[in-house]
Amino acid sequence: MEITLSIIKADIGAIGGHMAPSAQLLATVRQHILEEAANILIDSYISYTGDDIALLMTHKRGTGDEAVHRLALDAFLAGTEVARAQGLYGAGQDLVKDAFSANVRGMGPAVAEMEFEERPNEPFLFFAADKTDPGAYNLPLYLAFADPMNTPGLFLSQKLAQGFRFVIMDVGHTECDRIIELVAPEDLYDIAALLRDPQRYVVESVWSRASSEQAAVVSTSRLRDVAGKSTGKDDPVMVLRTQMHFPSTGELLAPFQVGHFVAGGVRGSHNMPLMPCTLNSPVSYFDGPPVVTCAAFACHEGRLTEPVDAFAHPFWDAVREHVAAKAMEMRRQGFFGSAMLPLAQLEYTGVAERIERLQGRFRERED
Ligand SMILES: [Mg+2]
Repeated sequence: MEITLSIIKADIGAIGGHMAPSAQLLATVRQHILEEAANILIDSYISYTGDDIALLMTHKRGTGDEAVHRLALDAFLAGTEVARAQGLYGAGQDLVKDAFSANVRGMGPAVAEMEFEERPNEPFLFFAADKTDPGAYNLPLYLAFADPMNTPGLFLSQKLAQGFRFVIMDVGHTECDRIIELVAPEDLYDIAALLRDPQRYVVESVWSRASSEQAAVVSTSRLRDVAGKSTGKDDPVMVLRTQMHFPSTGELLAPFQVGHFVAGGVRGSHNMPLMPCTLNSPVSYFDGPPVVTCAAFACHEGRLTEPVDAFAHPFWDAVREHVAAKAMEMRRQGFFGSAMLPLAQLEYTGVAERIERLQGRFRERED
């Protein structure tokens, strides 16, 4: 049975600045989906991570379906009314364009979709991150799908040993969306050379070479380009299918113990470690640290089980402590050097304008 998983995610308003959506906002979005989903969806799961609300939807209509995208947009529009009425910060923030034509791509919300033949048992992981960019998933995906130090299945399992195909997008290319396809393990060094720069190159999807099935999909939309100006971080969502031809759940979760540094934090302008948090977590310290949540599901004929909170296990308490220590250590150096993003990647123009004003005061040294 061909099933489509569609995740459409947006920040349409939050309490306390950018911390979390209100209960009433979330309830309104849920209610809209419940009331309007008949004949469109098989099932849905609605959650939040930081200030973002993600709609995880199952159906049989394929990717980019107009009715599914319209449903999500209308739910976000209904929610935006509540956000305005409650005085939430950034009401309707991610709905940067009004004109809907066929789907929400290019309108602001992040989209990750995957169509596949459902296996007799279909386990998958749904990740949502806040206060960071899609490139935040580069390192976990590299480790999970290409590094036997993380994923012993790459040499223990004949299915995994055939490797994986990475589709990588060049998000820094302004003319068009460029992608490149590279295969692990043969192209390992090429993959590493691109993924080391998560602001420029972002993994969009990963595919099994043994079965040609899709293993991973990441939202790679660029809010900055959609809006024509900075509107915040792109706060990516991701789905990973697990087991059989794919890494095990444990192999897919393991890379998140690193707490690697990603772009994010206050004003989206810093380097901060990514903290794995429990489902429906707000953000706090320094408008972060950037958070990632993971809901594990099983799915049968498109019907979802209840989620298991993958980062709720006590193991992750130790990781969170470690990540908090890394965050505080980085913050001790304030604006200096690698604590802050390079000039070209800052979401605010103030510092560039300040430096521009100083140009006239520079003079040639005379000695
Ligand atoms: Mg957000």
